[in-house]
Amino acid sequence: MYQLIIIGAGPAGQTAGIFAQRYGINFLIIGQITGGTTNEAHSVENYPGFKSITGPDLAQEFQKHLDTEIKQAQVEKISKQEKGFKVLTNQGEYQAQTIILSMGMKIRKLNFKNEEMFLNKGVSYSTSNNINRFKDKTLAVVGGGDSALTNTLKLSAQAKKIYIILRRDEFRGAPALVRKAEKQANIEIVYKAQIIEAQGKDKLEKIILNTDQQLEIDQLFIDVGGVPNVHLCAELNIEMENNFVKTDKHQLTNVPGVFAAGDITNNPLKLIVTAAAEGTIAATSAFKYIKSINS
Ligand SMILES: Cc1cc2nc3c(=O)[nH]c(=O)nc-3n(C[C@H](O)[C@H](O)[C@H](O)COP(=O)(O)OP(=O)(O)OC[C@H]3O[C@@H](n4cnc5c(N)ncnc54)[C@H](O)[C@@H]3O)c2cc1C
Repeated sequence: MYQLIIIGAGPAGQTAGIFAQRYGINFLIIGQITGGTTNEAHSVENYPGFKSITGPDLAQEFQKHLDTEIKQAQVEKISKQEKGFKVLTNQGEYQAQTIILSMGMKIRKLNFKNEEMFLNKGVSYSTSNNINRFKDKTLAVVGGGDSALTNTLKLSAQAKKIYIILRRDEFRGAPALVRKAEKQANIEIVYKAQIIEAQGKDKLEKIILNTDQQLEIDQLFIDVGGVPNVHLCAELNIEMENNFVKTDKHQLTNVPGVFAAGDITNNPLKLIVTAAAEGTIAATSAFKYIKSINS
């Protein structure tokens, strides 16, 4: 039996592993994709120590630091047993005294025509922190939540014009942010619209909406959130908040011995640096828990 099984090999799981190793914990990391969603990031410009690095390169740096083999398997079920937990994968069964859940989330795509074709060529699922890159550009942001509004307002400081495209006739985000966006001269809100097609030669040049509008833009940001990989949590009766795993400041869930870190948790800031920080806290809390049950 392992002392700890970390499920997920993205920045949260990889960092939890780095710390578990430092604490001398007997642990296993199980993850389908090493580096997780980081691999989808074209250019990461907000991880300390790297001014600009591709997501896959950063994931590799994490892996070099971890220096532990990841069990590349799919976890199918986690169940509580008398002492600890049983983790069933498509490649066998493992047992542990504690678990860290770090399965991340799937980005939500819009599935319009040519969405994939223009990915990183004018279509992106995250905004860059380097807003100077968008000076005097025409942009569009899809999404009506706090994240989309905050990003639009941030970008409006440099952009010539920004369309914010909403499927519904109202925003989900905070009214204060909505008021700010409404007042900003270079922001145009397009209500009740969906993108049906992206067009361009080598990169994105135009989006076609189902309202027959055609918008000529330099960059499109899709900011409609993601779906956390939480289906394994039901069996353990993990408490959720808005479909994300609810944790306390020690990354502990409502189930003793089960910790969670990264995009899967109810922390609204979905970043590599926060995933890594939560992985650190989860491993530290798991270490204390292991010591307490074995003393
Ligand atoms: C296009 C894009 C660009 C981004 N750019 C940036 C950026 O520039 N800067 C930034 O800070 N953040 C960026 N992000 C966000 C960042 O990638 C995530 O916040 C971060 O990867 C979350 O880490 P995580 O470890 O919680 O989850 P993930 O990275 O999603 O990792 C989840 C892990 O769990 C595994 N897993 C899931 N289910 C199972 C299962 N059943 N069995 C086994 N393994 C499983 C996966 O294979 C993976 O290894 C970007 C995201 C996207 C989509």
